[in-house]
Amino acid sequence: MLRVIPHPEARQHVLDRCARLAATSVPLADATGLVLDHDVVAREDVPPFANSAVDGYAVRAADVAGASDDEPIVLDVIDEVPAGASSDRTVGAGQAIRIMTGAPMPAGADASVMVEDTERLDDGGRVRVRRAVEAGSAVRAAGDDVVTGTRLFGPGDLITPAVAGVLASINVHEVTAVRAARVAVLSTGDELVDDGSPLRPGQIRESNKTMLLGMVRDAGCVAVDRGIVRDDEAALEAVLRDAADTCDAIVTSGGVSMGDYDVVKAVLSRIADMRWMQIAIRPAKPFAFGLLRASDGRDVPVFGLPGNPVSSLVSFELFARPALRQMMGHPSIERPTVAAVADTELPRRPDGKVHFVRVIAGFGDDGRVHVRPVGGQGSHQLAATAAANGLAMVPDGDGLAVGDDVTVVLLALA
Ligand code: AMP
Ligand code: MG
Repeated sequence: MLRVIPHPEARQHVLDRCARLAATSVPLADATGLVLDHDVVAREDVPPFANSAVDGYAVRAADVAGASDDEPIVLDVIDEVPAGASSDRTVGAGQAIRIMTGAPMPAGADASVMVEDTERLDDGGRVRVRRAVEAGSAVRAAGDDVVTGTRLFGPGDLITPAVAGVLASINVHEVTAVRAARVAVLSTGDELVDDGSPLRPGQIRESNKTMLLGMVRDAGCVAVDRGIVRDDEAALEAVLRDAADTCDAIVTSGGVSMGDYDVVKAVLSRIADMRWMQIAIRPAKPFAFGLLRASDGRDVPVFGLPGNPVSSLVSFELFARPALRQMMGHPSIERPTVAAVADTELPRRPDGKVHFVRVIAGFGDDGRVHVRPVGGQGSHQLAATAAANGLAMVPDGDGLAVGDDVTVVLLALA
């Protein structure tokens, strides 16, 4: 009889066996979502030159010191400078240059006046300034954002879209980042159909593989669809071995429990170093994890998820997702959890397990996260689960009352 283990123990068992992948050179255009593996020191100032923060006029602040609506000051407009150009003129006493946002400040000018505070006079050669500005006003200094020599990022930093933007701004177009894991996903079962054909007696539509491919992608990995594998040992072994040779991890669904046709169990027990677990959670009690040796000697993690669709989802969330993110060097491998308020009863019976109740979570007027369960908590009721954005962890016991605190794993919170 297998010992039923707490889910953190299973999670740790998995994490201890999922090594970080190697870093590799990646074009910046493909690097968002990956984790950096080196220091980035700015080799350029951003902005590279002092420029105007507004569309308006580059002036000498001293010239317009007394300007107001009642007593505007008139300046001669000696040039015009759009973004991308520069003026070779120098702003002298009583002079201004028409300037657009982002255009370099011309010599002599120390401030910009926004166009809304000015009026061009009929002759076009002069401008009336209605507002006094201080030196430096509406000017973005060189290096205001990034100063040359500053260390901006380092190993372990996630390349978010904004980070990628910063890298582009300092002329970095190639980074060394931890590789995105290639993850093979396959479902198993003679009953599964995914080709649109009419269902014969006993057949059902495949759903897990479609869902898991999305979850793998959502975790930042490259998902590789290995299709439906029949409950046939030779066929399954061939697919698993090929997946190990071409991928960094394998996710299977189905065939890991106590059924007579649980071929995943039969095959993996023979060809991989597996641990077959019973986890003290509901849903997703059966779970298998192990390492399958590839032809080139790599030990490829295999996640054997249960077949019931909701169990598959919960099992992936709890065990596979953190492990895959660890493999990719992610700074945060866990979903956020919050202490939320139960807006309804969350009844249950003692059974030694933590129940992961699928809930809809949202902020209440009190600023706290509140949850209510989705209707349909069966492990086969994926449509109900699809409405959930959280997993409420209801501890062993008699359940929770309205208003009780409950820890919620947030899958998404818009
Ligand atoms: P198993 O773990 O293989 O015994 O499957 C448990 C339950 O999940 C059975 O009702 C299966 O028909 C169902 N199931 C297994 N794999 C899938 C899948 N890929 N899509 C939808 N249902 C599945
Ligand atoms: Mg099966």
